[in-house]
Amino acid sequence: MSNNPFTLLGKEIPEGKRTILEIEVAKLHTRTTVKVPVIIERSKEPGPVVLLLAGVHGDEVNGVGIIREILNQKLNKPKKGTIICIPVFNIFGYLIQTREFPDGRDLNRMFPGSLNGSLASQFAFQFTKEIAPFVDYVIDFHTGGDQRENIAQIRCAEGDKKGLELAKVFNPPMIVYSSYISKSLRDTMNKLGKTILLFEGGKSKELNANIISEGVNGTKNVLIYLGLIDGEITVKGDPIFIKNAKWLRATYSGMFKITVKNGARVKKKEILGVIQDPFGEFKKRVYAPFDCYVFCINKTAIVNKGDALFHLSVDE
Ligand SMILES: [Zn+2]
Repeated sequence: MSNNPFTLLGKEIPEGKRTILEIEVAKLHTRTTVKVPVIIERSKEPGPVVLLLAGVHGDEVNGVGIIREILNQKLNKPKKGTIICIPVFNIFGYLIQTREFPDGRDLNRMFPGSLNGSLASQFAFQFTKEIAPFVDYVIDFHTGGDQRENIAQIRCAEGDKKGLELAKVFNPPMIVYSSYISKSLRDTMNKLGKTILLFEGGKSKELNANIISEGVNGTKNVLIYLGLIDGEITVKGDPIFIKNAKWLRATYSGMFKITVKNGARVKKKEILGVIQDPFGEFKKRVYAPFDCYVFCINKTAIVNKGDALFHLSVDE
């Protein structure tokens, strides 16, 4: 529940209005100051504090698109509680469309961070100290890395009851069990006793209308469920639970043609794609090794032997 007074980034946040703050951690090497905008809407009615966060990886633009759409539709104006939006967290990476920080580090492996660490570590530290303690719920928006295209999904740890409850309310096509990764933002928030949903959808460097719609609709559902906004929860269907998963890797190098649809349920030995040379001499089919769902596809044009091609569910 929100405190009264409510403080964020060392500043008191007034009730009943919009406040825009900036995380200011470092300058570019050209001495230009880099600021990360934090958009806060605090109701006069007390209630939960929800943080919507995107762009932890700078090239994962779908999440930025989801929060932009939430702002467009004014879904971030709560009737009670507080909604905080950080649309572009790793602004350094976003500017030059890379996943990492300028120091080459993955921000999502730097939490909780430290005051005297690398740039990414200092940035993580400021978030952990000045934002994280004051929020109750987080939705962290990601996409597949590189050309790996994820079906819209919420990732949750198997034992996380509160997270799973909200994941079902979010109502994505799939809910994927995933244990906490050391030094990730999700791990740190969990250790602080916060409920965090990790959304994954689409691939890097794209604005995918379907993924954005899934993200906006799910977030809206969660905000309605927590009582922050009015409206009716939209249920599109029962999410498919992926409890165990395995990557199917390329056994040959070549041009990659995908024939299966992402999200499909396939039978053992069904053809998922083809690896070919450019000359029409060499052609190898990629078969499903067992009955499964395909929930992530590497959409790269050319694959090397050993590359991860399809992420497949493993039935219990
Ligand atoms: Zn990511």
